[in-house]
Amino acid sequence: MSGRDDTAAALAAAGAYRRLAEQALLDRPLARDEARALLASPDADLPAVLWAAFAARSRHFGRRVKLCVLQNARSGLCPEDCGYCSQSAVSTADIRRYRLLPVADLVAGARRAAATGASRYCMVTSARGPSASDIAHFACAARAIRAELPALELCVSLGIMEEGQARTLGEAGVDFVNHNLNTSRRFYPAICSTHTYDDRMATVRGSSRAGLGACSGVIIGMGETHEDLIDVAGELRALAVTSLPVNFLHPIEGTPLGARPAPGAADCLRALALFRLANPRAEIRAAGGRERALGAAQGLALFAANSIFVEGYLTTPGQRHADARAMIRALGFEVEGEGAPRHGQDCANVM
Ligand code: SF4
Repeated sequence: MSGRDDTAAALAAAGAYRRLAEQALLDRPLARDEARALLASPDADLPAVLWAAFAARSRHFGRRVKLCVLQNARSGLCPEDCGYCSQSAVSTADIRRYRLLPVADLVAGARRAAATGASRYCMVTSARGPSASDIAHFACAARAIRAELPALELCVSLGIMEEGQARTLGEAGVDFVNHNLNTSRRFYPAICSTHTYDDRMATVRGSSRAGLGACSGVIIGMGETHEDLIDVAGELRALAVTSLPVNFLHPIEGTPLGARPAPGAADCLRALALFRLANPRAEIRAAGGRERALGAAQGLALFAANSIFVEGYLTTPGQRHADARAMIRALGFEVEGEGAPRHGQDCANVM
């Protein structure tokens, strides 16, 4: 192509993505053909794709980036068979396995999260779902954390949960329940056989009915098609999730998906843009596998995502919070809550 042709193509692409951004700003759903075109767009269009995502992101979240910290509250020993998971019954991955952490450890984890400047602390267990004693345990932890760190958002991810269990946790101070759909209904049986897509949908709906924020997202790179990504983006919009983690497969040796290649950076960025444009009001969280899949391009995730995890994942390491802050500032973004009194205990110093 000549330089003039290149310019004409770039302007045409910019116009198409501008229309996507305008629709997202009006909170209109993406048309299927538009979503297909976005996911199939050439790498040369990535700046325009990210610009469109950024327009929607900045409308609702400005340049703020929320830091989140995970706590693996029970590791391994899970009876389920999710193909991506190092903690499943079928995984032989070399991970730490331990039973439910005491409440004191969960509270200490919240303290450490707050000390990193995190705005959200997510307690996660490996399990099909919580027992009555698990719910009592996390309710106790939530009350203790809430009393000490009133501004820290609390999320739990405990597997398949009933509405009443979510309600009990909400009354104890939990803000969000996470349960990822992970992929489309069509593709779900290829990654898990021990529970169903409907089990997951029911947990998300029950948590919303209980008055908690619904946190549910996806894993990119498990062998799904573009159509699957478009389907699950639409499902999450229909569920009106307020928080949407986008994970990127980290193939772990010893898991059924351990031999798959990690997804490519450009595909991951296009997927992030899709979820932002399809769910413009949701907190889009660049989550597990970000460091490995995006590599040197991980900062570009911030143009679509307004939230990232720091200090590692359930069984894999991640970016340290100091490095994340440096990345955030270098790109002209700001850490949510930074500079403002945070987590209650600081208030005495400003009065
Ligand atoms: S239910 Fe959760 S912990 Fe258990 S195998 Fe699936 S993803 Fe892993």
